[in-house]
Amino acid sequence: SWSSMTSPEPNLALREESSDFLFYFCSRIKPCDFDYLKIIGKGSFGKVLLARHKETTKYYAVKVLQKKIILKKKEQKHIMAERSVLMKNLKHPFLVGLHYSFQTADKLYFVLDYVNGGELFYHLQRERVFLEPRARFYAAEIASALGYLHSLHIVYRDLKPENILLDSEGHIVLTDFGLCKEGLDPNGTTSTFCGTPEYLAPEVLQKQAYDRTVDWWCLGSVLYEMLYGLPPFYSRNTAEMYNNILHKAPVLKPNISNAGRELLEGLLQKERSKRLGAKDDFLELKYHCFFSPINWDDLMAKKISPPFVPSVSGPTDLRHFDPEFTHLPVSSSLCSDTVMVTSSMKEAAGAFPGFSYGPPADHSFM
Ligand code: AMP
Repeated sequence: SWSSMTSPEPNLALREESSDFLFYFCSRIKPCDFDYLKIIGKGSFGKVLLARHKETTKYYAVKVLQKKIILKKKEQKHIMAERSVLMKNLKHPFLVGLHYSFQTADKLYFVLDYVNGGELFYHLQRERVFLEPRARFYAAEIASALGYLHSLHIVYRDLKPENILLDSEGHIVLTDFGLCKEGLDPNGTTSTFCGTPEYLAPEVLQKQAYDRTVDWWCLGSVLYEMLYGLPPFYSRNTAEMYNNILHKAPVLKPNISNAGRELLEGLLQKERSKRLGAKDDFLELKYHCFFSPINWDDLMAKKISPPFVPSVSGPTDLRHFDPEFTHLPVSSSLCSDTVMVTSSMKEAAGAFPGFSYGPPADHSFM
């Protein structure tokens, strides 16, 4: 497990360098160890590919980011944030797992669990709305993951439909940690990369300071969309939608329970200091009456059977993929043997020092 890899010791830099060294000469995990089968997602810094580890034939989602683009956009801070987030011993049942990261001269690679149950909102679009128990289950799993991140002083900030996936059993998996910030710019032309930014909290929209309460706003938006079929404040006209977010009360039609509407009202509170979660964070949600049917210990232990099981036969079922793709390399440039290590990494990729990361001793590819 990669969680044993990071340690907050003072000689961390040294350890990272020597582990890069070992990594290269012993495990040799490198881009060419994978067949890249299909592009499954695109963000503004790069893409997510379905990849198969040649030796083990296991499937992974490999996120490949172009350093040039990151540097050009002066966003390396965010990438480093993502890296440190992914590596900060993050381990939670509803957060995507990171297996490895490494870099070549021009790209950063993240090797993640491949999550194949589809985007939550793909299923929502097919069914238009979810009944309350199902929406409650997803909201609870998302809330517990957000609460976990907050306990580590991490704000997710970018919770949005395309980052909420289902695994093969029907549990929530949150992906993406801080890679797609352009969508936050109301006037930005790049916002199409990131999907419609309808979950923007008022304080983010106004470029004010934000804190962890921004995540509770986003959760409110997700829950609203699950129950009502459209995001809160939705308008086809983006300017109008922004105006609604800033100035209009959410419309809470009475076809959902009082507890549900009360929760939404608390989460979609424009003033973040008054928002549900502002005081005791996740605990305020945990003990909200909307979630009273949820046994949180069982939830965390994945003992609650998901209300819906995606139609995949197992974790590596690729039925949503055209077999035409499955033996074609996506881009030959992805396959590079020149994994950067130690000093060369520092010279050529000064902005991304100590990035490479993998098991130091065993090297069996899990
Ligand atoms: P991201 O850049 O993380 O927003 O990813 C873009 C898209 O790629 C997402 O909307 C997902 O559909 C897909 N994706 C990201 N990570 C994974 C993963 N671990 N497993 C499967 N699909 C993923």
